[in-house]
Amino acid sequence: MQRGAILVLSGPSGAGKSTIINASSDEIGEYYFSISTTTRAPRVGEEHGVDYFFVSKEAFEEDIKAGNFLEYAQVHGNYYGTSLKPVRVALSEGKLVIFDIDVQGHRLVRAKMNDITTSAFITPPTLKALEDRLRARCTDDEEVIVGRIENAKEEIKAVDEYDFTIINDTVEKAAKEFVIVAKAARLKQSSEDEEKFITQWLSK
Ligand code: ADP
Ligand code: 5GP
Repeated sequence: MQRGAILVLSGPSGAGKSTIINASSDEIGEYYFSISTTTRAPRVGEEHGVDYFFVSKEAFEEDIKAGNFLEYAQVHGNYYGTSLKPVRVALSEGKLVIFDIDVQGHRLVRAKMNDITTSAFITPPTLKALEDRLRARCTDDEEVIVGRIENAKEEIKAVDEYDFTIINDTVEKAAKEFVIVAKAARLKQSSEDEEKFITQWLSK
């Protein structure tokens, strides 16, 4: 049975992760984008079930207790988590599953599913560019922006934990690089599949 693969994307809020995925979606083949669950409030234009599943803190904590998350973390004072079930289904269908999660989430996914995981850290070329883009996005108030910038100064230190770094200088260039990374991620085989391949290869 064909098995899927995981591509984890991390990078500061405002790095351009959504922009790059949207710009590349026609070229990366069939994929499943994991819609996270969060307790943060929706931004203008965000939709429940499209951008995130927006839930209360109580509902999130119920899901934690029920063991429904593959991983979850607190980021900028809110909970964010990846539900296990849809990811399992997509993987069993052989899909590339793309996660937009923070560095803590990446560590947890690595700990659980390292052999099918590829990761890329996406960042604007400089801290100043990140600040400018967060302000230009006009989706967060000043206090939230300052918090995100402080968080970014910490997150950038984890860049060496990732397989690839994509510098989002222009969207066009970053999207091209992202397509290459997505194609490479699909080629990653689980150790189980590799063993099967070796057995088959030897027997013919
Ligand atoms: P993320 O999903 O990582 O939080 P977004 O995709 O929302 O980031 O991008 C943050 C803001 O920066 C958006 O307003 C987006 O239009 C803008 N942006 C993204 N990439 C670039 C780029 N290469 N140059 C200039 N602005 C960009
Ligand atoms: P934002 O509020 O800008 O949408 O996201 C804030 C941060 O939370 C980003 O770094 C994003 O990658 C991260 N994030 C989003 N969903 C998840 C998730 O399900 N798990 C984890 N660990 N981080 C997430």
